[in-house]
Order: sequence, then C-alpha cells, then structure tokens
Amino acid sequence: MPMRIESIDFFYVSMPQIEDIADGSQDALLVRVRADGLTGWGECEASPLVCIANWVCPMSHEICKPLNQAVANQVVDGPEDIARIARRVARDGLDIAQTDHTFSGVEIALWDLLGNKHGKPVYELLGYDRVYPKTPYASQLFGDTPDQTRQKARASVRQGFKAVKFGWGPYGLGDVEADRLQVEAAREGLGPEGILLVDAGTAWGDDPRKALPRLEALEEHRATWLEEPFVGEALEAHAELAAHCRKVRLAGGEGARNIHMARHLIDYGKVGFIQIDTGRIGGIGPSKKVCDHARAHGVTYVNHTFTTHLALSASLQPFSGVEDSWLCEYPVEPKALAVELNHDELALNDAGQIQVPARPGLGVEVNLGAIEKYLVETQIKIGDRVLYRSPDPNS
Ligand SMILES: [Mg+2]
Repeated sequence: MPMRIESIDFFYVSMPQIEDIADGSQDALLVRVRADGLTGWGECEASPLVCIANWVCPMSHEICKPLNQAVANQVVDGPEDIARIARRVARDGLDIAQTDHTFSGVEIALWDLLGNKHGKPVYELLGYDRVYPKTPYASQLFGDTPDQTRQKARASVRQGFKAVKFGWGPYGLGDVEADRLQVEAAREGLGPEGILLVDAGTAWGDDPRKALPRLEALEEHRATWLEEPFVGEALEAHAELAAHCRKVRLAGGEGARNIHMARHLIDYGKVGFIQIDTGRIGGIGPSKKVCDHARAHGVTYVNHTFTTHLALSASLQPFSGVEDSWLCEYPVEPKALAVELNHDELALNDAGQIQVPARPGLGVEVNLGAIEKYLVETQIKIGDRVLYRSPDPNS
C-alpha cells in the first residue's frame, strides 16, 4: 500500500519578546506531517507568518498558488516522491518569493517521515553507509565590545569547543581599527590553537573596497574563513576579494534559496566553504546536491543553522557521510524556546565532537509541551472563510 500524506500542520511558536538582533532562534515555524500512523517533523528557517500565508493564500494565478495544494494527499514512498512533490511546489509557487523557505520545513518533515517508515536514518536514505563526527563551532554574535568578545571566546573554550565563530553585532559596521580589535580579542580569548571563524553578516553590501582593508587582521589572527562579506548574489565582489586572500577563505551560501544560487557562489564567487541552511534552500534533497557539487570542485560543505536541534540534525544529514567536511555550525546561545522544543540534544562528546543521531528519520523528538507553551494563536481569514487556524499540538 502506498503511503499517502494525511495531514500537514504548521506551528508558529515565539518567545514573548522579540529583540531586534540577528538571532533566528527567537521564534520558529515547525511542520508536522502525518501518514499511516507515522509522524515527520521539520522546521522552516524563515519568517513564520509569511510562510503560513504562502501555505494557504488563495490562488492569484497559475504560478501563484497556495503550496498546500501541491503537497496534500501526495504519495511518499521513497526519495523520488519528495523530489516529485518539490517540482510541483516549485511550479505552483514560481512567482512567490517565499516558496523555497516555506517548502523547506515541509521537505525536511517528509524525509523524517520517510526515515520513520523505513526505520532508517535520513543519511542512509541519502546514500551514506557511514557517518563521520563533526567538530562543532560555537556560533555566536560578536560582543558589543572587544572585551565582551574575549570573554565569550573564553567561555566557549571552557565548554569544550575547539572552534568558535563570531559574527554580526558591531563587526563591519564601524571602522577598520574597531574590527581589528574585535578579531584580535576573539583570537586572544580562543587561544593560539583554536579555529577562528568570522562572519561579516553581509556588512559591506557588494563593495570589495570596504572589505579589502579588513583582510590584514583576519590573516594576522589566522581566521579560517571570512563569512558573508557581501550579499550572496554579489558574485563579482566575492571573486575579487577571494583573489586577494592569502590563507583566509571566503564562506557563504546561507541565503541560497535554491541549488543554482549555491552553485554560483562556488563556481563564480570562488568561496572556499559553502554554507547551506536546509531550512531555506528547499530542504535536504537540494542540500545534498550542493554537497556533491562542492566536493567535485574542492570546496568544503558546511551546514548553516541557528535554532533547534531538529534543524541542526536536518542540516547535518546532507554532509554527514563526508569525512573531509569536518566542521559544523552549532548554536550555543539559542533562546529558551529553541532549547525546549526538542527532547534529545546533539551533545558534544569528550573529544568535543558531535555525531548525527543513528536513529530513524532525523532522530530528534519534538516536545509537544514546548509547542503548547510558546504557540502563538493565529488565524488567517478572508471574509467568513478561515484559511488557517493554529492547530492543537496534542490532537
Ligand atoms: Mg552567517
């Protein structure tokens, strides 16, 4: 009997207060898919309410349709079915910019469901017969001052991290000297052996002249990569800066909404690390394709993730079987909501490494009580017709 999707639920959860900082763990959009008495979970790394609108909005025209039409009642027996659904979604939502972000969470939930059906971890369904431990880097915002950054780096080392990434906050927004002091403080806090990564958070738009003077401090303090100096589409700026790098490599790709954007950063932007968020690019299937392309071109694949351990597990699957891709992003200061949403943690082992769970699907259980606690009662209505109402997590 083919397995047919019976229900798809979107849960919008949020911290009571949303701060104006680059921390995507303050709210979340979880997706639950059910079929044949089985459940799959996924998470969109995207603005939750925009995605819900994308999911239920009435048809505007042929390629502006609510995405739920393309997924509801579909058969899911193997990875090829997920790819088929993805093609239909891409067509129905071709003229809606949010489509890939919204579908990502659904696509991830379908892989989790499929893994549960076959009793296999998702990485096995992707073709990996073994997985390798990853060295997680503690991903966090720069301190407001160099001294705060130094303290944060020291705290991460005390927690057992061998690699630390600082990003956003004041970095890239002030002068070159201020940025130099931040990088210097991060290196001091981390010690000479640690792996230092720096994320400029697209601070310099598409202007290599603003980025070039920052390279010296990054080389001097042996940063492994400089992440997102520019917006992801500024391929010429990336390539120009890459040509001036001695040891530091450029990293980017978290904003990629499809395979092509990620491949272009590799082929034309000359990044050395490609960072993919499965919750944005369209899910696990497209991420695996980017991973294969990166390997074929000598570029290192890294996950991008900043929220729950459900999202972390999803982000690890596409490159879990690649031994050379040894670094992984690991959120260290998520909000309470992101911590409470999962029962199982992908904790660091004694060697300071993490491993993708060997359990079926994504191997991470969702805490329904936390969904209930943080659920934002939401309704979308047109006239008298209710298009969306927050589902009951316990039903
Ligand atoms: Mg980043």
